[in-house]
Amino acid sequence: MIPAAALLTCMVATAPPTRADSAPGFIPRRLADGVYVVPGDTGRGSEGRPNAGFIVTSEGVVVVDALGSPRDGHTLLQAIRGVTREPVRWLVLTHHHPDHHFGAIVFKRAGARIIAHPDTRTLAGEGGPDALVADWTRVVGRDAMRGFAFADRPDRAVTGSDTLRLGGRTIVIVHPGAAHTAGDLMVWLPDERILFAGDILIEDGVTMVVDGSAAALERALDQIRRLAPRVAVPGHGAIPRDPLALVARTREYITGLESDMRAAVEHGVPMQRALDALPPADEQRPVSLASRRRRNAARVYVEEEHRYMGLEDSLP
Ligand SMILES: [Zn+2]
Repeated sequence: MIPAAALLTCMVATAPPTRADSAPGFIPRRLADGVYVVPGDTGRGSEGRPNAGFIVTSEGVVVVDALGSPRDGHTLLQAIRGVTREPVRWLVLTHHHPDHHFGAIVFKRAGARIIAHPDTRTLAGEGGPDALVADWTRVVGRDAMRGFAFADRPDRAVTGSDTLRLGGRTIVIVHPGAAHTAGDLMVWLPDERILFAGDILIEDGVTMVVDGSAAALERALDQIRRLAPRVAVPGHGAIPRDPLALVARTREYITGLESDMRAAVEHGVPMQRALDALPPADEQRPVSLASRRRRNAARVYVEEEHRYMGLEDSLP
């Protein structure tokens, strides 16, 4: 299968060295009264800076994701400070990939408590925390990582769903299953019909199931479809004009991959040969679309193989 080192390499290669030069400040965009997105990069998929968000209430602020370094976390906090002086009460982490939470310590030090899924395992962290930090530091640079400490252990763990009621607002935090990663959370604002989907939705690339599963991704997408959000903020990329079209596109992608891999399994085609039928990976850009497709395909092949043998319960 895909060695963990390859994934780590991929994450290391994700970020171009120019990230350090990007945006001196982040500019929040208002989605509804008191609800903001802090847009990340667009057009670069998972190689770009993710989206973050925050919800302002009269009893404090709830932040969604902390970005990939203390420096970006600090810049995000400043952007929030430009909108409100309310204290930051909670930071919700949509999952445990470094680009979404390595800025969390800044919010913790500012007094926020962390809401996250307790399962922090991802292939990126398989070499241990020190290796992950060292590799990620090579991606974002030493300056960006100054003051880093892990802060993704939940003070309030969510493994099903949980509702925050703060200053008259309702904020629902849902674990949609191990779709993108085992520790996925989404943030749903029922009154505004706004969803922060994390990397379950990626607008300018495609989501990944290497740390999760295609079957769980499909269920998560169905859950989003049932919520029928007015606005869905993806983990990466622009906010789609039509959220359900992005959901449908993502679902089509994953079910297409499943039927290709199922056919391969049923015809006894070995995984490597099934992967060879796909467009070649970009050696230097392991999270580019072509590279992702191959890595997703490898995961989906294993799922289909287990299903074929009636062993889906024993999937890793
Ligand atoms: Zn991710």
